[in-house]
Amino acid sequence: MRDIKCQLLVIGAGPGGYVCAIRAGQLGIDTVIVEAKKPGGTCLNVGCIPSKALIHAADEHARLADYAAGRSALGIRAEKPAIELARTVEWKDGIVRRLTNGVSGLLKKAGVKHVDGWASFRDGKTVRVETQTGMQTIEADNIVIATGSTSVELPGIGFGGNVISSTEALGLTTVPKRLAVVGAGYIGLEMGTAFAKLGAEVTVLEAMDCILPLYDEELTKPVRKRLEKLGVTVLTGVKAERYSESAKTLSYSNGDGKSDTVSADKVLVTVGRKPATESWGLEELDLSMDGRHIAIDEHCRTSMRGVYAIGDVTGEPMLAHRAMAQGEMVAEIVAGKRRAWDRQCIPSVCFTDPEIVSAGLSPEEAAEAGIDARSAIFPFQANGRTMTLGREDGFVRIVARADNHLVIGIQAVGAQISELSSYFAHAIEMGARLEDIAQTIHAHPTLSEAVQESALRTLGHALHI
Ligand code: FAD
Repeated sequence: MRDIKCQLLVIGAGPGGYVCAIRAGQLGIDTVIVEAKKPGGTCLNVGCIPSKALIHAADEHARLADYAAGRSALGIRAEKPAIELARTVEWKDGIVRRLTNGVSGLLKKAGVKHVDGWASFRDGKTVRVETQTGMQTIEADNIVIATGSTSVELPGIGFGGNVISSTEALGLTTVPKRLAVVGAGYIGLEMGTAFAKLGAEVTVLEAMDCILPLYDEELTKPVRKRLEKLGVTVLTGVKAERYSESAKTLSYSNGDGKSDTVSADKVLVTVGRKPATESWGLEELDLSMDGRHIAIDEHCRTSMRGVYAIGDVTGEPMLAHRAMAQGEMVAEIVAGKRRAWDRQCIPSVCFTDPEIVSAGLSPEEAAEAGIDARSAIFPFQANGRTMTLGREDGFVRIVARADNHLVIGIQAVGAQISELSSYFAHAIEMGARLEDIAQTIHAHPTLSEAVQESALRTLGHALHI
């Protein structure tokens, strides 16, 4: 097999790697991308997209079940719904196929060479790829490490049998009768909520004394309330310890050292993801690490000249849009453009029920940063659009500097508010002040009016509350 020489080699075709390679190809850089599995990485194959497909199917099922049980005030009657999860999975797999084929097509269109196989570094300029037909050596002027992340395993409850990660959970073709979810981060709660809506008896076990520890309690309270309404049991401050396949029980201990068990046909372990830094020759390189992830500067440069790292392998926040933004930037830097990585405002969305959206600083984070800030919330109960959607729980909260009213954070919790996330990020990115948001004419009736009202309220004169 002939050796390949190129200007840019990207390892990993997840959202970070494939975006980097496409942009590099568009800029005329001779680019090769290596992927061991399928293009699209975690996000398209076993992450963002399939999980949102499952959540949508579960929402539809729950809506019909509410109509059938007479739990809706809308005056709609329906038959009790049935779920054929195997068909849902087929539908989800079709979406994944369309998107991953799309990525292959875009790489091709940008003139990027795709090598299928596992890459390992020999040194900072050379990589060997184990392909189906033998070893391929690739020499590159610049290399981007975009190897992503993998699920963390819990000691005593390793993956296998009925203990599954989010990847296996997304492929289940029947709804487990009793599902235990270990870890109340966003992945565990998104999937736990979906399975509860599909009819599973769900118990969530979390070691910390709160759910969704990345968000403050004001934001997570409506989610916890809804979980209770859906019949999900949430146990916080407990440590899951062992699963018995024969008895189908998960044992756990609480803070006082007392032990108990919960029955579970499946145990979904979602206790976090770790940067994928193993088995690709990290030891052959002289990279500075920051704990478990590769250390990078504001240009995504590592400690080695010509070696960049992007996406989950560079640590938190492990989000697809962060990886994509870094990938696009690195391609432009390699092409000689002046770019830098601005981590100031990466929006995050938690697709629970209700959804949580956050951009910039929360009131607590602003206080910790020593910023004199003011904030106010506007409840969705006072928003006409939420009433017409039949869901009024949640609110929008704006955080702004007290002196010049610069908006430094916007958060919200509510049904179907994920689409507001880019509004929030845009306002902060553009340096909006409370007056800019308050004086922008917002279409009526929309959820976004709650953002305008929270700005008005922070200024002391909300109109609709
Ligand atoms: P990845 O997507 O992990 O891609 C890395 C790729 O590199 C993989 O395809 C892997 O096969 C390949 N690779 C690794 N090592 C090698 C090697 N040595 N040789 C060749 N190939 C290699 N994020 C969001 O923003 N929104 C969401 O709603 C969301 N939902 C999620 C739901 C779930 C269930 C999960 C698990 C994750 C979710 N995420 C979400 C996180 C998101 O998927 C990741 O942040 C994103 O995929 C990271 O992109 P990446 O390019 O860094 O790595």
